Amino acid sequence: MFKALMLREADGKVTAAIETVAEDQLPEGDVTVQVSHSTLNYKDGMVLNGLGRLVRQYPHIPGVDFVGVVTQSSHANFKAGDKVILTGWRVGEARWGGYAELARVKGDWLVKLPDGMTPRHAMAIGTAGFTAMLAVMALQAHELTPESGPILVTGAAGGLGSVATAILAKLGYSVTCSTGRAETHAYLKDLGAAEIIDRSTISTPSGKPLDGERWAGAIDAVGGSTLAAVLPQIKYRGSMASCGLAGGNKLETTVIPFLLRGVNILGIDSVQCPMKLRQEAWTRLTRDLPMDKLDSTIEAAKLEDLPRLGKAILDGKVRGRVVVEIG
Ligand code: NDP
Repeated sequence: MFKALMLREADGKVTAAIETVAEDQLPEGDVTVQVSHSTLNYKDGMVLNGLGRLVRQYPHIPGVDFVGVVTQSSHANFKAGDKVILTGWRVGEARWGGYAELARVKGDWLVKLPDGMTPRHAMAIGTAGFTAMLAVMALQAHELTPESGPILVTGAAGGLGSVATAILAKLGYSVTCSTGRAETHAYLKDLGAAEIIDRSTISTPSGKPLDGERWAGAIDAVGGSTLAAVLPQIKYRGSMASCGLAGGNKLETTVIPFLLRGVNILGIDSVQCPMKLRQEAWTRLTRDLPMDKLDSTIEAAKLEDLPRLGKAILDGKVRGRVVVEIG
């Protein structure tokens, strides 16, 4: 038997409660993991609140990410005692996830916990931080260097934005953070922000196909009208990594920044990210993300706190990263 946060649906309403579950209820998979920590991503907030039709079958154990120790494995790459990380692959939405003491998944989805990284830090990173690393790597693959000019991070005080800010600052980039929360300014400065702007200044497009060239690159967690407003401000041959939709998923813009400035929009997907790129990103995180800065982003939580925090993250009220301590 193991403890889990279980979602049940009745009359179209989703409710969450801590339940005791029998191990033989776990889904198919070749690796079973004793989960020590999980986390809270924006998508977890949607699942906890029954939004976006992400979960089609109840009862359901959410939790998009987890870290833990392998207890049983018939997969060639893993044996009992190995420390492993899972992010993505629709675990926690299409399959039972990490808000439980035990999880069972396909070994092909797991990454070994990198040497020198603690399980707590792995979940402080989680899908949001891993996606931030993928975005930085995509920008660098498109010629972005610290000499190119300032980089804009939107939704900066959220999970993805916080980790992106800390990585970029460590790598020597000049980071401008956009946030709607004045109370996070000191926090963002400490993560390495060179400049902070209010999100209202970049949330409405000017209406012109091109604006003054302002940003060498951008990591965007907000999407919608913010992406449309920033795109015409990207410098010649600069790139914008489109990661999120916290502010909306519609994009109304023109092709002029692509045609006259050679600007790129780089789509970032963490869920089905190929294994080679996944491993490279986790290795880079051990090198490029200062762990003391990561510590400053962490809010510790228990399974019991998740229904409340799941609402808070959808309201844009979670600062940085939540680490859920499970076992
Ligand atoms: P968070 O909620 O932690 O961060 C989102 C931030 O966006 C908030 O903290 C807030 O920042 C800002 N924000 C929230 N609502 C609005 C709004 N209405 N208008 C403008 N800004 C807003 O979420 P995560 O960091 O976990 O995820 C961020 C986004 O990235 C989500 O949309 C998520 O779905 C997406 N994502 C995508 C992945 C992928 O594979 N592509 C993987 C992980 C996440 P502030 O208060 O600083 O303004």
